[in-house]
Amino acid sequence: MKKAIAIIVSVACVAFTLTTLGIKCAGKIQDSKPAKYIFLFIGDGMGHAQASLAESYLSYQEGTPGNSQLLFTTFPVLGTCFTYSASSLVTDSSAAGTAIATGTKTNNSYLGVDPDGNPVYSFADDLKEMGYNIGIYSSVPVNHATPASFYGHNISRNGYYEISKDMIPADYNFYGGANFLQFKGKEGEPNTEEYLEANGYQVAFGQAEFDEIKSTSDRVVLLAEPRTKQASQYVSDEAENQETMLLADMTRNCLDFLGDEKPFFIMCEGGEIDYMCHADKTMPTVEAIYKFNDAIQVAYDFYLKHPKQTLIVVTADHETGGLTLGAEPLSYAIDWAPLEKQWLEAGQVNDLSPEENRTLNESCGIAWTTTHHTGAPVPIYAIGKGAQKFAGRKADNQPFGNLSDPDGRVRIWRKESRLLQCGRAQLQRHYSLTLLQEGVGGGKLQRTYPQVPQLQRDIQGL
Ligand SMILES: [Zn+2]
Repeated sequence: MKKAIAIIVSVACVAFTLTTLGIKCAGKIQDSKPAKYIFLFIGDGMGHAQASLAESYLSYQEGTPGNSQLLFTTFPVLGTCFTYSASSLVTDSSAAGTAIATGTKTNNSYLGVDPDGNPVYSFADDLKEMGYNIGIYSSVPVNHATPASFYGHNISRNGYYEISKDMIPADYNFYGGANFLQFKGKEGEPNTEEYLEANGYQVAFGQAEFDEIKSTSDRVVLLAEPRTKQASQYVSDEAENQETMLLADMTRNCLDFLGDEKPFFIMCEGGEIDYMCHADKTMPTVEAIYKFNDAIQVAYDFYLKHPKQTLIVVTADHETGGLTLGAEPLSYAIDWAPLEKQWLEAGQVNDLSPEENRTLNESCGIAWTTTHHTGAPVPIYAIGKGAQKFAGRKADNQPFGNLSDPDGRVRIWRKESRLLQCGRAQLQRHYSLTLLQEGVGGGKLQRTYPQVPQLQRDIQGL
């Protein structure tokens, strides 16, 4: 059994945090506390049309007119979220993830840093300081942009190996994903698994390995794919790869691991929704949203047991594909039968050329305008304690601070770590957090705190 990393939080920081909480709680103790159990589901690329598409197909399957509802679209609170980045109307996943996680708008391809390259920290760090367990996972690689926005800091979202290393100072309890990108690391450096295990984490590939270690570890990384699939970049289709863990199973495993004694924050990304939308694949998009919905069902079942203490928020980081329901030459209709037939025969790995795919989609009344992201707003659905905060029109750097602070405060931390010798040549990493600034509306804070050396730029030679 490997020992957990010891964490020392500076006394000053704890005192400040408690003081802050004390101020917030004065007179309104119940209302001003965040929910004990917080779920944030991010459907990558899932705009309003993607959710409607899945509901339209569900309706077709059930033989009923209109749009049958997915679970998460029945949630009572609905907001709409604008996703522009600091550098473009059309965001990428790392800038959008950074805005959601930290309250700071940044440039496309920047991850967990502001537009000047300074690291910014997520509200998961706030919650961790408040005693929450933290679980961050995705159906795509664990060091991909959306999950990494919560723990990583790099001016390039593609610096995957370095981003994986950022899991250590973030010190969250549970990370999960399909696999790692840049698993092998650089020449002369340990592979990602070796690096993480040398720093207090246990890495499990697949359910069997996880079951072996879950009771003896308090810091884990769970990969959905078996060890032999590490080279794969994308999540596999369950019909072809029975060994890949579904997002709902990942959610069960995370809940199982964190337990309900302590409060927790869980971020779950349905990442393959975006992959399928980049390919303008209609039926695989529907399938990916069904799987995402299944994962939300696990959280909803938990909510039903703890309705007064649980908050579930479902949103997207941006829309992908410019999907629309209705296309020439078909008018006022969607014809699901040919799409379904092609999908059942070919599965997710269909071999249609882009032109053939476009012709099939449009002949059935589905149009995709791009193979990239769009600037279309995305929905926010919420249920549970504090859900009402998510109603109305938002930008993606505004509402999510409410997950850790019902008053919408955003805090900016400076995190420092050092390695200490702890007997028998065992190294342990110690952390200290210093609160630099706090206020409402994170985006306004982003340029006001002290500049730090632009380490990332130096490292990357940019
Ligand atoms: Zn995205």
